[in-house]
Amino acid sequence: MSSLMDNLALTKAILSNPQMIRVKPAVNLFMLQYLRKFSVRNVGGNLVIHSHLPPVNSHAYSRFIDEHLLGGINGPSHAQVGVTNACPQGCEYCYNRYKAGEPMDRETILRLVADLKRMGVFWLGLTGGEPLLNKHLVEIVESAADGCAVKLFTTGCTLTPQRAADLKRAGLAYVSVSLDSPDEAEHDRIRRYPGAYRTALQAIDIFQELGGVHVSVSAVLGKPMLHEDRVEELLRFLAGLGIDEAWLSECKPAVQGLWSPDEVITEEERGMLLRVQDRRNRDGGMTVNYLGHFEGREHFGCNAGNKMIYVDAFGNVSPCVFAPISFGNVTERPVEEIFGEMKSCFPTENRCFINTNYALMRKYYRGSSPIPVEDTRSLMQEVRFGPLARFNQLRSS
Ligand code: SF4
Repeated sequence: MSSLMDNLALTKAILSNPQMIRVKPAVNLFMLQYLRKFSVRNVGGNLVIHSHLPPVNSHAYSRFIDEHLLGGINGPSHAQVGVTNACPQGCEYCYNRYKAGEPMDRETILRLVADLKRMGVFWLGLTGGEPLLNKHLVEIVESAADGCAVKLFTTGCTLTPQRAADLKRAGLAYVSVSLDSPDEAEHDRIRRYPGAYRTALQAIDIFQELGGVHVSVSAVLGKPMLHEDRVEELLRFLAGLGIDEAWLSECKPAVQGLWSPDEVITEEERGMLLRVQDRRNRDGGMTVNYLGHFEGREHFGCNAGNKMIYVDAFGNVSPCVFAPISFGNVTERPVEEIFGEMKSCFPTENRCFINTNYALMRKYYRGSSPIPVEDTRSLMQEVRFGPLARFNQLRSS
């Protein structure tokens, strides 16, 4: 928290949710301490902490308090939906790389979004493939935006100023453009797409010129990037773009080629990213939002399969985008029923599920992704979960 303005904005946001007073004092204190690590950004009237939470003055945030903190709803809070698997880029680490099947149609996606909202989802990530390639994207955003903070994950391919304006009008709160390196050749090589870097910068420009949508860059940090000087170099570059947020994640062992201890982040590397994030955010300017901070043992932990659900473009339900296992398909069974079964296998815990259990993926993988339902059930028998993260310890104490 860097300024008087931030304190005023946060106080105003907290007062706009007076029902917070009924939340357990220890949980309230935790939330306050967590929120104070970030500056509040006013984006078109939305007061944003970071793009993994709804704006604190939004209806979606009130639903977080009413339904999840006070109401004890059993459904997920966060969902990601793949609206197409098509993508012109070819990232090695892409969690959808080896998937195939019959894509969900418009009606299925719209019904799914409505079901997820009813179940408790107040934050929805639209992903792909490249989600801009779904011609119904604006309609999908519009159907979700009332009561849900919608975030678009995009490479920027095919974006036009008109499409961006349509998405904003539909209620898009956040856009996250993929950019993995400040170096043009390196980014294009990682993405296996000449022009990926320029496409990303152009998409950022389009949304910045439009205004009113929170703009972040999502950077997936492969092992060569997990050094403090390289991360700082990337953040200096991103800050120079004038974006609202740098969203960072280490490269997760989501696909076959990465199921090796050499590819998985170490505790020292995670500690370095936590330090860099906190230092940057204390200094103010662009928000730095490292996924392993939000989902670390010190904060909310891993909510895969418990408060988080992922439905890929073919309708397969997984606990998280990075976990290539499936509990069923929404074209065959109601999503609520599938989620209920998945949740019964997933207590929340303080470690990243996929970073901890990638070796089991190797054991059960038989050449098709995601691992089918029967094999997923067998795999889950072998998982040993760790203790709860701080937030869930406080909630259950
Ligand atoms: S498995 Fe890892 S990436 Fe997925 S929700 Fe859990 S912590 Fe996040």
